[in-house]
Amino acid sequence: MLLVKDMKNLKGKRVIVRVDFNVPQKGGVISDDNRIVAALPTIKDLIAKEARVILMSHLGKVKHKEAPEVVEEQKKKNNMAPVAVRLGELLGSPVHFVNATRGEELKKAVDELKDGEVLLMQNTRYEKGEEKNDSELSKEWASLGDAFVMDAFGSAHRAHASTYGIPEILKSEGKQVAIGYLVEKEVVSLDKVVNVPADRHPYIAILGGFKVSDKIKVIDSLLKKCDKVIIGGAMAYTFQVALGKKVGNSPYEADQLEYAKRMYDTGKILLPVDAKIANDFDNPTDIKIVEGDIPDGYQGMDIGPKTAKLYADEIKKAKTVFWNGPMGVFEKDEFTDGTVAVCKACAELKDAFTVIGGGDSASAAKKLGFKEKFSHVSTGGGASLEMIENDGHLPGIDIIK
Ligand code: ADP
Ligand code: MG
Repeated sequence: MLLVKDMKNLKGKRVIVRVDFNVPQKGGVISDDNRIVAALPTIKDLIAKEARVILMSHLGKVKHKEAPEVVEEQKKKNNMAPVAVRLGELLGSPVHFVNATRGEELKKAVDELKDGEVLLMQNTRYEKGEEKNDSELSKEWASLGDAFVMDAFGSAHRAHASTYGIPEILKSEGKQVAIGYLVEKEVVSLDKVVNVPADRHPYIAILGGFKVSDKIKVIDSLLKKCDKVIIGGAMAYTFQVALGKKVGNSPYEADQLEYAKRMYDTGKILLPVDAKIANDFDNPTDIKIVEGDIPDGYQGMDIGPKTAKLYADEIKKAKTVFWNGPMGVFEKDEFTDGTVAVCKACAELKDAFTVIGGGDSASAAKKLGFKEKFSHVSTGGGASLEMIENDGHLPGIDIIK
């Protein structure tokens, strides 16, 4: 697979870079520019090679099936213009912003781009054809470039026009298509939790979060790869109900019980032995620890201290860890203990490769102060899960290979 750092003869060439500038923003104010910062190495490399850099990204959602005025409203909300300003500040030189996603205005702006200059196109999702990988749209976009770089890991699991259609066309025309620095780091790191050699076992997965149904494929895949799968979060209640336990008012998925039982029967799953419970989710005034069944009128909000210890002891044995999904409602300070315990156990590992894949898990690790202690924190929640589910394959990366 070609890497951006190995691309040659780019002087004066138009290079389309699919970046992930899907930043949290409101009314043009960007609250976290991590994703823009993460794209800088690739952009700077291309500038140094005197390429003409054309950046494309989606931002938020535009639902084209809605009424026209709703679509207009969504477009306004997800305007890419402020990102160009922020990127310009970070690069220390202005970025040309093009408020168009097709047509003459865009083509003209690309034609006028000089060597080493950077252009950012308006939000790819302004186009209805983007998410459908529409072939006409892909052709028009591909015609703007002499080469393509994929650096949007968070979108690599989607075969859209900007992530798949463009490189497919350029590749067929014999042009250079490559992955950028960010995607390279993701691929190298995630490979270590996808293909785990015997001497990197025990391999332990920590799964939590809200729903079993969101994670069925990844649970299947991890049960094949891992020695133990630790379950926490609300997901645990579905398993416990499946085993005949009572969970009070805790959320669980009635349609996943059979599946949960079957997974449990693999013998690799560890379930909580106690829970921190509360009388009410929004207004938890009565909080306590229980072992075994959760009484009616209460719901589980976090794993309990015995479980935290049990899980931490298990994690201590690991040489490889993949973590997706918080152990409890970490957004509330009363229910962070379980997630802190697994973070701490991972942080204390000496000779282990530890990976976080999952948006909320990454923000939990950041909030609780453990983010830097992990070997790798994936920038793509959904993409990292799909990478594990599909044994290392993602459409937006496979097309580059
Ligand atoms: P990720 O984004 O890392 O994949 P998920 O989106 O699957 O994680 O799950 C995160 C959410 O799960 C968090 O908002 C957290 O509050 C919630 N959660 C965890 N434990 C519980 C619980 N016991 N009850 C309700 N929600 C929970
Ligand atoms: Mg999430």
